[in-house]
Amino acid sequence: MSVVYNFCAGPAMLPTQVMKKAQQEFINWQDTGCSVMELSHRSKDFMALADEAENNLRELMAIPQNYKVLFCHGGGRGQFSAVPLNLLPVGGKADYVVSGSWSKAAAKEAENFGEINVLNVVEEIDGKKVVKPSAQWDISKDSAYVHYCPNETVDGIEVFDIPDFGDIPLVADMSSTILSHQIDVSKFGVIYAGAQKNIGPSGLTIVIVREDLLGKARQETPCIMNYKTSADNDSMYNTPPTYAWYLAGLVFEWLKSVGGVSAIESINQRKAQLIYDYVDQSSFYKNSIANEFRSRMNVPFWLEDESLNDEFLRQAESQGLLALKGHRIVGGMRASIYNAMPLAGVEKLVAFMKDFEQGIK
Ligand SMILES: *Cc1c(COP(=O)(O)O)cnc(C)c1O
Repeated sequence: MSVVYNFCAGPAMLPTQVMKKAQQEFINWQDTGCSVMELSHRSKDFMALADEAENNLRELMAIPQNYKVLFCHGGGRGQFSAVPLNLLPVGGKADYVVSGSWSKAAAKEAENFGEINVLNVVEEIDGKKVVKPSAQWDISKDSAYVHYCPNETVDGIEVFDIPDFGDIPLVADMSSTILSHQIDVSKFGVIYAGAQKNIGPSGLTIVIVREDLLGKARQETPCIMNYKTSADNDSMYNTPPTYAWYLAGLVFEWLKSVGGVSAIESINQRKAQLIYDYVDQSSFYKNSIANEFRSRMNVPFWLEDESLNDEFLRQAESQGLLALKGHRIVGGMRASIYNAMPLAGVEKLVAFMKDFEQGIK
């Protein structure tokens, strides 16, 4: 089989080294004679693995001691409910900043639990989409928390500056940007991320929560969504997604081996820049997001002549460039280039885009 580059938005490709290691260890992990997925989550061996994965994530993200790291079920959307259940008091109010389709979905879910102030922060200036500066976000004074999505996976809009609302906790859906660039965790109350974009397989969700926010959950919060219950039980109140946890651990090890988040950040910058630069100098492709808000993880682009979309995708696939079709809401193309996508994959994509353009002209 020739080399394939998978640009899927999620579940996304994993590093080749990780997949090879998992394959080698699949039926006999560390001479136990068992697969990791066959071991008790309470066994000494698994607990050691679980601890190491958490410690590596803490190291990679420089997570301060006063934050808990939870390994949960339920994905990003599970957190759309878990966040208000844990942080929004009955009768309380929260602010939801909407910069694209995922933050909009999070706000809609939160409306089941209380009064939600929805702030639309994307506007179009000279034909380009921009995000209003956070100083202009009209946050309610009595807000329990402010929720936003730093990287909008579908829309390709990323907000790099971290907002600051003083004592009001900031909650971030980092499903598609966690570990892609360095951030100061201490600026957040809660960070959550479904694993299937930049961490591992689907079925695992990481929650990083500041300790003073634990213990405020509503009475009716399901136990498996209760942050304090999870924290008090080292994420093992119920059976955690053990195999996904193991794979996430391998990804964290891999990320450390390539130099950690700062090293991957500069590669990610280069990868994204290659595509945007090519799109910008071409009259054949376009992208309508202002430079400073362009996602480094999900790069959407459109062909000026949309009737060529199917042919573009067909030829791309025949060259091993997979899953470039844009999300149905926005159309066009989307190259998701998470940490695991090597520079060579992006170079091959850009070379193909050029060949395709020249072949048509
Ligand atoms: C993929 C994604 C989700 C949804 O995750 P699920 O695990 O499918 O629930 C939520 N938010 C963002 C930003 C995403 O990219």
